[in-house]
Amino acid sequence: MSAISRKLLRMQAVLLKPRCVLCDGPGLAAAALDLCAGCYRDLPRLTDACAVCARPAAGDGVICGACQKTPPPFERVIAPYRYAWPIDKMIQQFKFGGNLAMGRVLGRLLAHHLTGIRRLTSMPGAALTAPPIVVPVPLHRRRLWQRGFNQATELARTIGLIHPLAIRSGLCGRVRDTPAQSAMRAAERHKNVQKAFALRSKTVPERIVIIDDVMTTGSTCAELARTFKSQGTRQVLVWCLARA
Ligand SMILES: [Zn+2]
Ligand SMILES: [Zn+2]
Repeated sequence: MSAISRKLLRMQAVLLKPRCVLCDGPGLAAAALDLCAGCYRDLPRLTDACAVCARPAAGDGVICGACQKTPPPFERVIAPYRYAWPIDKMIQQFKFGGNLAMGRVLGRLLAHHLTGIRRLTSMPGAALTAPPIVVPVPLHRRRLWQRGFNQATELARTIGLIHPLAIRSGLCGRVRDTPAQSAMRAAERHKNVQKAFALRSKTVPERIVIIDDVMTTGSTCAELARTFKSQGTRQVLVWCLARA
C-alpha cells in the first residue's frame, strides 16, 4: 500500500467516525450512531405505555381506558421514546430546521428499537414473515414544498437501510391542507384531520405499517388507518419515534 493510500484511509477513518449530535463527543461506532454512549443512555425511553396506543402512564402491557372504551382503528403503536428533552429538540431540528443529519440519527434510533422486537409486524393473531408495506404519513404538497422533505418518509428510508421494508409513499395522498396540529386541542385535532387522506390505488395491502415522527392524540394516524381500512386493509401498525 502506498503512503498516499494509507493517508487517505486514515483521513477516511477520521471523517467517518461518528460524532455525537448532542455533545460532539465520540459516537457509538458499533451502531453507526451519531450519539455518544452517555447521551444515548439518557434518552427519555417510553415505559408504562398502553399495549395498543402506547399512551404513557397506562402501565406496561396494560390496555388504557380510552382504548378499552373505543378501540382505535390501528392495532398497535410501537414508540421507543417519550416526546421529552432532548428527543423533542432533535425532532424539531430535523422537522422545522431541515437538519437531515439529525433525521438520520432519529431514524437509526427507531430502527435499533425495532431490531429488539422479534417480529416487526407482530400483533395479536398474526404471524407475518413478509416485509411489511410501509406507509409514511403523507404531507400535503404545499407543506412538502415548503419543507422540502417529508419527515416520515425520511425516517422510513433510514429504517429501510437496516430492515427490509416495502415503502409505498405514493399509495395515499394528503388531499386537505389541514392547519398544523401542534397548537390544537384533542377534539380540534380529530376534526382537523377528517377526510384529510385519499387513496391513490384501488387495491390496498392487507396489512400496513404507518410511520410518523411524533404521536400526540393519535388522530392523524387514526384517520390514515381508517382511510385504508375503509378500502379493505385489515391490520394497521404504527411505528413512531416519540409518544407525547
Ligand atoms: Zn453526547
Ligand atoms: Zn391505549
